[in-house]
Amino acid sequence: MIIGILQEPSFESRVSLPAAEAAALIKNGITIWVEKDAGLKAFSLDEDYILAGAEIKSRSDIFDGADVLLAIHYSNIPFALSNKVFIGVYQPMYNHEQVEGWAQNENTIFSLDMLPRTTRAQSMDVLSSQSNIAGYKAALLAAATYSRYFPMMMTAAGSVPPAKVLVLGAGVAGLQAVATSRRLGAVVEVFDTRAAAKEEVLSLGAKFVEVEGAADDTKAGGYAVDQSADFQQKQKQKIADSIKKADVVITTAQVFGKKAPVLVTQEMIATMRAGSVIIDLAAATGGNTELTQDRQTIVWNNVTIIGDSNLAAAMPADASKAYGRNLLSFLKMLINKEGQFAIDLTDDILKSACITHNGEIISPIIKTRIHGNAAQLHSQQS
Ligand code: NAD
Repeated sequence: MIIGILQEPSFESRVSLPAAEAAALIKNGITIWVEKDAGLKAFSLDEDYILAGAEIKSRSDIFDGADVLLAIHYSNIPFALSNKVFIGVYQPMYNHEQVEGWAQNENTIFSLDMLPRTTRAQSMDVLSSQSNIAGYKAALLAAATYSRYFPMMMTAAGSVPPAKVLVLGAGVAGLQAVATSRRLGAVVEVFDTRAAAKEEVLSLGAKFVEVEGAADDTKAGGYAVDQSADFQQKQKQKIADSIKKADVVITTAQVFGKKAPVLVTQEMIATMRAGSVIIDLAAATGGNTELTQDRQTIVWNNVTIIGDSNLAAAMPADASKAYGRNLLSFLKMLINKEGQFAIDLTDDILKSACITHNGEIISPIIKTRIHGNAAQLHSQQS
């Protein structure tokens, strides 16, 4: 069996499988082909892959000859490819046209953002491993951009109070942003709609701001759910009170498969003091602030607003290593005892992560979403 590692688009610094992780597959008799310089930006060099026993190949050779292709992003891959197997993070919840194209072209697509959030799938959970890095980097980026100290300082020139950090969304990224901001000496306040987040926030030495009346999310598989207009209004009022005092705001709030909730209005940002910083990790799904622009830094009213949902890529070596380890765990499910590629679609993990196979949409969530939308469109037109 041949596994091909493709070079990512120019905006990405990570590689799907670094040399050390590729070595683990080679030891098990798998052949690894790597596109030239695929790991360069993640400091996994062609010579490291060669030492591990992999071969450097052209992109077209990999497309033609590999059984399984590894690419985190799909954006620089020709749309018309057919009969290929891809593993990456392809956001099928938002890319419906692409999903239908994959099915038509008989491609087998595994998208790791669709893995169930179960204990068995934990070792493969790229969303968690990458969010953890993004949260850490968000706090460091905030500290580096902020015009004042994070920790309290007692100096001969006088004392400086600690920075006040407000974190919106205490999932994997948010909690790591809390922990890192705390380590840097900041005072931290946190909002989340999930009641379960409170205990984790308190255990990190931060304050949890409660808002009454959040919708029940116990059946949402660990994810948040949409909130009522009344709750949103109450939450906005409390966020407005907190933001006035905050020097740094790190936003991470997401509702699975939906546009990110807008929690911070322009009016609220206007109350922040000059030199403050907002880091919005939900930028790719619309952002948690009214002013966020994805992959851009803007300065409005002397507040710097950084929109970046791909912050894990800012730490490419460890982010690639963690992603590669998640992949190794996932690949174990796709390689049989004879070392051949085999898919068991009765397994709940594979069924969730498999978007298309044999010309069909497999993932139940994506199927409902796309066919549901088509039915809705049809009824609107008729
Ligand atoms: P996420 O990226 O989907 O969302 C980030 C956070 O934003 C969540 O905590 C969510 O509750 C919060 N949020 C959404 N709307 C909000 C609003 N209006 N106001 C404030 N906060 C809002 O979340 P995630 O990081 O993927 O993790 C979500 C949960 O899933 C966590 O509890 C995590 O521990 C759990 N999880 C479990 C597993 C597993 O069991 N294998 C794996 C990963 C994550």
